[in-house]
Amino acid sequence: MNNMKDYMLRAMTKDGQVRIYAALTTDTAACAKDVHQMYPTSAVALGRTLTAAALMSGTLKSEKSTITIQIKGDGPLGSIVVVTDANSNVRGYVHNPYVDILLNDKGKFDIAGAVGKGYLNVVTDLGLKEPYVGRVKLVSGEIAEDITYYYAASEQTPTVTSLGVLVGRDGNIINAGGLFIQLMPGCSEENISWLEKCVESMPPVTKLLESENSLEQIIEEVLPGRELIFLDTKPVKYQCNCSRERMERNLLSLGIDDLEELAADKKETELICHFCRTKYVFQPSEIDNILSQTRKENISEADENPKE
Ligand SMILES: [Zn+2]
Repeated sequence: MNNMKDYMLRAMTKDGQVRIYAALTTDTAACAKDVHQMYPTSAVALGRTLTAAALMSGTLKSEKSTITIQIKGDGPLGSIVVVTDANSNVRGYVHNPYVDILLNDKGKFDIAGAVGKGYLNVVTDLGLKEPYVGRVKLVSGEIAEDITYYYAASEQTPTVTSLGVLVGRDGNIINAGGLFIQLMPGCSEENISWLEKCVESMPPVTKLLESENSLEQIIEEVLPGRELIFLDTKPVKYQCNCSRERMERNLLSLGIDDLEELAADKKETELICHFCRTKYVFQPSEIDNILSQTRKENISEADENPKE
């Protein structure tokens, strides 16, 4: 059991040809499990995806940028949605938190069976006009392999991905974490065969995390024989950015017909954040205000775009 706080680490080989991202996400995965009251299979699937997002956060530079991972499968889990910002604040949910299917023939949680067949979307929003959307077919549903395939197909970056969430017999999360190892363009044949050897003998990430070792020590253990440079670390947290204002904007975006329906009910309207389950209650008078605001905006829009 590793008692360190969650963090992610960026490193590279001294020649710059191999980039490494590592993350410890035990508390983050446990927090997600609590927030959504998930059964183990759902918790492992979301934990792996949150870990992938924490690793990807290492590629973001500007404060305002975000990456959203959407896994849309036809299995009992439904879709998985995870968001990270550049500060490694991650949040997410699975459509069905109550999936608890039997272990597969390797004695592991059958995540592929829970996810099913479908697509992986990665939406990178750098705060520019349009976000960049990469989409690949799910090749396995185990998530790590799908992320590897995404990097190969959509970003032309050969990537070794390892994601793990270890659950105890009591259903609690014992540890969670992950690794990305990426080959930069122009990587030498020598480095490629060195890395292949390292990966062949690499234990599962949850096994590596059983030690009290730091991510730095784990990377040195997994990638022997090259001088490594540790670039920076960031704390990883399960953190939502929802607010009453944001929820109000969601209501505004409903459109007049739906708002009129809500207003006609004359009841409290309750909205629950998908990511952190926080409840927001709007009184009938507040719904009326939002409705009249929408009506005004619609009128001014019509003024700006007069019909011929
Ligand atoms: Zn929230």
